[in-house]
Amino acid sequence: MPTGTINPPSSQLGWRETSSQPGTGLTIGVLAMQGAFVEHLRILTKLGATVREVRLPHDLEGLDGIILPGGESTTIGKLLEAWGVLMPLRSAIAQGLPCWGTCAGAILMARDVSDTLPGQPLLSVMDISIRRNAFGRQVQSFETDLIIEGMDKDVPFPAMFIRAPKIESVGPDATAIATLDDGTIVAARQGTWLATSFHPELTSDPRFHAWFLDIARANLGQSSL
Ligand code: GLN
Repeated sequence: MPTGTINPPSSQLGWRETSSQPGTGLTIGVLAMQGAFVEHLRILTKLGATVREVRLPHDLEGLDGIILPGGESTTIGKLLEAWGVLMPLRSAIAQGLPCWGTCAGAILMARDVSDTLPGQPLLSVMDISIRRNAFGRQVQSFETDLIIEGMDKDVPFPAMFIRAPKIESVGPDATAIATLDDGTIVAARQGTWLATSFHPELTSDPRFHAWFLDIARANLGQSSL
């Protein structure tokens, strides 16, 4: 089936350009093609960010950061390509747009991906190697507490893994910021980019989202100098 037969969406779900507490001064996009994007929009809005669903190239204009949600990376990749967002998103991120990929989103960001489908469209921007579905099937999903480098170590972060990828290596430009007890890397950072194998949007702890907003705010300060 030619990918061109997937029609772009004609309307938003209602999250566009809204905020319950205007004041952070940040506009954060959430890629809203498939997967757990509503949960990200909800937490960002609670934290005071102005949020925007991203489905088409013009949705990228003026963003201070973007989140790529979990879901199914093969589907999201196809839609990115079909709706013309793959190339503009890749160049916006490559030019320094703060970006955080959760699970499928981390797969899209990784420069090197194992166990892809043939021809799977990817953004391939971040200096990490990742393996899809590396923890097994959906029924092998699990939750665990993690110490995250750069976050309060006294309060471990509740991390939910759903048919998650493993980050098999990082660097030289990226660093690991969280590992499981067996040393498996499950989160990485490269400047203003974050990649997590797990889903902070599915737990009630907003610290990861608050941290991403801090990164976006710091980046704004730097780029306006
Ligand atoms: N297994 C999915 C993929 O390969 C990722 C799962 C998720 O995002 N929870 O894209």
